[in-house]
Amino acid sequence: MAYESALEKRLARKATKAIVDFDMIEDGDRVMVGLSGGKDSWALMQLLDALRRRAPIEFSVVAVNVDSGYVDYKHETIARTCEARGWEYRIEHTTIGAIIDDKLDETATPCSLCARLRRGVLYRIASELGATKIALGHHADDFIETLLLNLFFSGSLKAMPARLLSDDRQHVVIRPLVYVSEEEAREYTEQAGLPVIGCCCPVCGDLSLQRQRMKRMLLDLEREHPGVKQSMLKALSNVAGRHLLDRRLNPIDGLRAEAGRPVGDPAHASIESVSS
Ligand code: SF4
Repeated sequence: MAYESALEKRLARKATKAIVDFDMIEDGDRVMVGLSGGKDSWALMQLLDALRRRAPIEFSVVAVNVDSGYVDYKHETIARTCEARGWEYRIEHTTIGAIIDDKLDETATPCSLCARLRRGVLYRIASELGATKIALGHHADDFIETLLLNLFFSGSLKAMPARLLSDDRQHVVIRPLVYVSEEEAREYTEQAGLPVIGCCCPVCGDLSLQRQRMKRMLLDLEREHPGVKQSMLKALSNVAGRHLLDRRLNPIDGLRAEAGRPVGDPAHASIESVSS
C-alpha cells in the first residue's frame, strides 16, 4: 500500500529506522500512544496508524488522553477525531492540574511534577488496557533541547532514552519520532488535518521557561549554521566516552591495564597522598 504523501513516506522511513534501531515494536504488540492533542502526539498517532496498516508484523494501536482537568480543555475534540478515523481511544479525566496548583508556589516550574503525575496515570492505564508498549511523541528537537538543558543546568551529559524500561520493569516506553524533526511533525499533523489543541495549562508556551530558551537558541544557531541540529542529533549516537571525564566510562583499572600497569599500582597511592 502506497503512503499518502512524500512527507508521510519520509516520516515512515525515519520512524521505521528508530523502531529497528531500538527494538521498539514487535509482532503482537499493543502500542498505547500518549495523545495530548498537541501536534507531536497527533503526528505519532497518525504515523503509527500508517505503519500498522503497512507493516509486515501485526500490532495494534490505542490512543490514551490524560485530561488534567482544566475547564477549557477540548478533550471531546480528541474523542470525535479518534472516532472519525476509527482509532481506538480512551480519555482519562484526572485532577492533575489542581494537584499541581496545590503543591507548587507561583514561581516554581510545574513541568517535572506534571510529567511524573502523567507518567503514573499512563502506566496505570497501560496495565488496564494490556498495552505492551507506551509510545510518546518526543521528536528530535526534544532530544537535543533536553541534551542542552541537562548540559547547561543539571551538570549531566544526557538527552532522553529512545526506549526505556520502567523502574518496576512493568512498562516499556518508546519514542518512535526520535529521528523526526519538530517541523516535520508539525507539517505532517497539518497535512493530515488533525486538530491541534492546547493543554490549557497556565505555563504552557511561557517563553521564560528554560526549554523555550533552548528552542530559541537552537533556532538562531540553525539560521546561522544550517545543519547544527542534525549534527547534534548525530552526536547522540556517536559518543566518544574516552574523551569525556566520567570515571564510570574510564575506570582507573582499565586505564592502568591499558598502560601495562598492575591494578592497585602503589605509585598512584603515593601521588594521591602528596596532593592531599
Ligand atoms: S507546560 Fe503545563 S502541561 Fe506541559 S508539562 Fe508543563 S505543566 Fe505540564
